[in-house]
Amino acid sequence: MADNRTAQAARRPSPAVILMFPGQIIFLCFAVVTGVLGMMVALYEYRRKRFEPEPTEDRVFRCDGCAYVYTDDHDVDRSRCPECGLFNSPFVF
Ligand SMILES: [Zn+2]
Repeated sequence: MADNRTAQAARRPSPAVILMFPGQIIFLCFAVVTGVLGMMVALYEYRRKRFEPEPTEDRVFRCDGCAYVYTDDHDVDRSRCPECGLFNSPFVF
């Protein structure tokens, strides 16, 4: 008799399935898909940030005399050209 009762209990759907409405099931599937997509985007951003170099704070200079393009520290207002020695202002893009 005990075997018959356990078999009936196994055939019956679990209470969690009975309590859920189709709308809830659709919402749960949507939430799971959205969560997985969000995790993939977060992982992609994390990997991209690890591989790409940090943006440099240096200023870009373009020599007025020889058109040589070079960089210098961000706190320098006028920088000497390493090619011809002329002082230049930072290049504005
Ligand atoms: Zn120069």
